[in-house]
Amino acid sequence: MAELKRVVVIGGGMAGSQVAKGLEDHAEVTLIDPKNFFDIPYARLRAIVEPAIAERSLVLHSEYLKKAKIVESCAESATATEVVTSSGEHIPYDYLVICTGTLFQSPPEKTTKLERIEEMKGQNRTLLEAESVLIIGGGPVGVELAGEILNDFPEKKVTIVCSADRLIEFLGPKASRKCEKWLRKKGVTVILKDKIDVNDNLAPPNYETHKHEELKADAHFIATGKKLPTKWLETSEVLKDHVAVDGRLKMEASGTCQVEGLHNVFAAGDITDFKEIKQGYLAGRHAAIVVENIKKLIASPDNAKLLVYKPTNTPMGIVSLGRVLAVAQMPFGTILGRLAGLLKSKDLFIGKTRESLGLRAR
Ligand SMILES: Cc1cc2nc3c(=O)[nH]c(=O)nc-3n(C[C@H](O)[C@H](O)[C@H](O)COP(=O)(O)OP(=O)(O)OC[C@H]3O[C@@H](n4cnc5c(N)ncnc54)[C@H](O)[C@@H]3O)c2cc1C
Repeated sequence: MAELKRVVVIGGGMAGSQVAKGLEDHAEVTLIDPKNFFDIPYARLRAIVEPAIAERSLVLHSEYLKKAKIVESCAESATATEVVTSSGEHIPYDYLVICTGTLFQSPPEKTTKLERIEEMKGQNRTLLEAESVLIIGGGPVGVELAGEILNDFPEKKVTIVCSADRLIEFLGPKASRKCEKWLRKKGVTVILKDKIDVNDNLAPPNYETHKHEELKADAHFIATGKKLPTKWLETSEVLKDHVAVDGRLKMEASGTCQVEGLHNVFAAGDITDFKEIKQGYLAGRHAAIVVENIKKLIASPDNAKLLVYKPTNTPMGIVSLGRVLAVAQMPFGTILGRLAGLLKSKDLFIGKTRESLGLRAR
């Protein structure tokens, strides 16, 4: 029997977990991730009001991967034949898949499931003890957090400071307007076009915005932009010439999910420079194509007919506003209410994500 090909997957988030799972029966798969678990991102804000959600939303990589080798470390560099990790391992590959996503500054990443559960409980204690809460950032993370707090603790006073001129800027103005109106009606103070510096001195109860507005709150949560973890890509022999100016990986224009000019290196998820908004459901679509294309290349290295991914040009998005409501931008229009909430807010796609990894939804 021919030897199994070696596939190294870097990053065990939305895309990497699917790629490793999809290929472990077809190749010798190694998943590299600094965390020993997959943190279903959609649940991160509900976890602040309901830490018990961790039981379903934090999935050990060893729970869904039955054959793949798991290396708990960070990829630090890659050559044309191997990946070197921060723990000093040299891991050879025939196919490399990069799924390192984006890092949110908050909540900070923890490397074990237990640490992450403790962090969730700590955030919950902070929230329970606070009568007033300041949310720094008015993107989907800040708005979803406000929705969760209003749903479970309607008596708490919430303020959102957003540097943009509208909330949830990744969606159209109609979604922003509906969302802002709803939040204000619930008593939330929304401050637009102003910001608060996120630094180590940030502490309750006094905060000052760039425009010198003084705010008081018993606690703050940071929901500001994303930071791409791409430094190592820029210094990696095989990848450094394939990093776009924004830190993402330049992808083959044909849509095969290969990194431009590299036959055996693929990428999926937020790290790709596909011209579309960065979302988990799209990361899942990239992952499915990567799985099929690597299977095809393994079966027929010289004349595989690869599948192609077409970036989506009709941005859809659902921002939940607690457990029942949501604002949704869909191809048929933008809505806010229970109908939109039915699509996401109750389970936050946790069951669906677990099932896609072969686990029980509940
Ligand atoms: C609160 C929240 C709610 C969201 N809601 C939605 C939603 O409703 N719908 C939707 O479609 N999208 C949503 N998103 C966006 C979605 O989560 C992301 O688009 C998706 O997670 C991207 O998947 P990814 O695999 O590219 O990256 P991630 O899921 O971020 O995974 C990246 C992985 O790479 C690992 N990693 C990073 N650097 C290295 C390294 N050097 N070596 C090894 N491993 C590394 C990380 O530890 C992590 O496990 C939401 C995001 C958040 C934070």
